[in-house]
Amino acid sequence: MARKGQPSKEPGRILDWFRSRRRDLPWRRAANSYSTWVSEIMLQQTRVEVVIPYFEAFLDRFPTVRALAQASEEEVLSVWAGLGYYRRARLLREAARVVNEEMDGKLPRDSASLRGLPGIGEYTAAAIASIAFQERIPVVDGNVCRVAARFLGVNDPLGSSSLRKKARDWGETLHVSAPENSAGALNEGLMELGAMVCRPRNPRCGECPVTEGCAAFQTGRVEDLPTKAREIIWKDVGLLYGVAWCKSGALLEKREQGWNRGLWEPPSIPDGDAKVVSKAWARAHPGRGKLGAMMGSTRHTITSHRILARVHEIKGWDGRGAVPPESVPLSSLGKKVLSLAGVLGFLILASPL
Ligand code: SF4
Repeated sequence: MARKGQPSKEPGRILDWFRSRRRDLPWRRAANSYSTWVSEIMLQQTRVEVVIPYFEAFLDRFPTVRALAQASEEEVLSVWAGLGYYRRARLLREAARVVNEEMDGKLPRDSASLRGLPGIGEYTAAAIASIAFQERIPVVDGNVCRVAARFLGVNDPLGSSSLRKKARDWGETLHVSAPENSAGALNEGLMELGAMVCRPRNPRCGECPVTEGCAAFQTGRVEDLPTKAREIIWKDVGLLYGVAWCKSGALLEKREQGWNRGLWEPPSIPDGDAKVVSKAWARAHPGRGKLGAMMGSTRHTITSHRILARVHEIKGWDGRGAVPPESVPLSSLGKKVLSLAGVLGFLILASPL
């Protein structure tokens, strides 16, 4: 491997491989700074296959920065609903308003200025600046860290700041030797290499363009690297949801804090002892009926929370404030709860044509 600042063969090899093997993805077809930006925000902690339909629907509904800036938070969340990590959508809209009102609708072209916008951190700024504006700056995500750990043959665990630093330094070395105007393709190529070839399990070294310089391959340590990251510490949470509905809609409320903020779901309380939950329900939701029989339970995971949701019928609700579920952005857990109770199907059948 070349030392930092010295020319290396890897950039040319990665670029050639990427040109012939790159996946045809909608944000690569649309290729402009706005679509790159939206795709990079959606791809944070979310798989490519999951993002594709959301990206297409989002660009259909908000084709420009201006369209996004002028949309309400509710509209943006309703297109985003189901993709998760809703803070991303709120910050994306907020940043679009800043770009529209203070920057004449044009995204800054360098990573340092991009980082001043809401929701754009180091990784996203580098991705947008390199892919849309060809700034020579490495992009370091989990895929790149894995490739770097193997290529460099280092023992730093995945997720560690020391491995990120080594991956960034390696990326800088690659950018020094890369041809003009290839910064975006080089970064995308490295990420693609990690996703398609240098995979977490069963890496396809036989198809890899950089085997010659790869320390792990040359020393037979491919399966040992990268070393394991710390495990997620899960927090188990019990929630009790109350479900009621009438012809015109269901008993729903907008979450004002915590996870799924801004989305709608049936009211809930922390779950607990059977003797106290009825009283707790009456205290938390006065005038909204009484807890009835349990209808079932469902599990759901949000960030590091594992939720066990018990679903109870609500008796004696007078239908005041009923909300048609299709008129608001529902949380994924809210949809699960309503489906379990059979409410979504019932209301769709009951609604007038
Ligand atoms: Fe990864 Fe194998 Fe390529 Fe090394 S040779 S970078 S381990 S795919």
